[in-house]
Amino acid sequence: MRPVGEGITLEELTQMGAILHGHFLLTSGRHSAVYFEKFRLLERPALLERVVATMLTPFRGKPIEGVVGPTLGGILVAYEAARQLGVQAFYAEREGAERAFRRNGIPERGMRLLVVDDVLTTGSSIREVLTLLQSYAVQVVGIGVLIDRSEQPIEFGYPLAAALRLPAESYPPDECPLCLQGIPLLKRGSR
Ligand SMILES: [Zn+2]
Repeated sequence: MRPVGEGITLEELTQMGAILHGHFLLTSGRHSAVYFEKFRLLERPALLERVVATMLTPFRGKPIEGVVGPTLGGILVAYEAARQLGVQAFYAEREGAERAFRRNGIPERGMRLLVVDDVLTTGSSIREVLTLLQSYAVQVVGIGVLIDRSEQPIEFGYPLAAALRLPAESYPPDECPLCLQGIPLLKRGSR
C-alpha cells in the first residue's frame, strides 16, 4: 500500500476507467477526445483519502476551521478533507440557480474555511460557493480541487491547489476533428 499523500497518476486514472477516450459532448457544448469520469475516483474511499491528502498539502499548518464543498461530488471531497483536518464539513446544495446551506449546517461568522470541489473545469460551482459564503462573513483560506481540468488558469482571488492538473483539450463543434472523422458523439455527465 502506498503512503497517504503520494497523489495519483494518469496511468492509475486510466486503468480504473476514470479517463475515457472517444468523442464526447462536454457540458460546455464543446467536443473532446477525453472524458474524465470523476465517480471512478469518488467511489474508492482509500484512493480518495490519498488524493485529498495530496490536495491538502499546500494548506497544512494553515488555521482552517471548516471545509465547504458543493453537491454532488464536492461534498464527498469536503467530508474527507474535513476528516483529515479534524474540522467540520459544510455542504453547499443547489437551490435554483444558486447555492445554499439547506440542512442548518451553517458556518459561524469569521470562520476560516477551505473551499473544495472534485473537478475544476469552468469554475462555476466554486464561484457559486464563494458567492454563498459572502453572505456568511467567513474568511476563505483557499480553494482545493482533486483534478484541475481548466483549459486556461482560473483566478478566484484565493490560493488554488489541485492534486492533479489535467487540462482538457476541447473544440467548438464546427471545428471538431473527431466530427470530421465521423466518430459518433457521446454525451456524458450532468453539468
Ligand atoms: Zn466533435
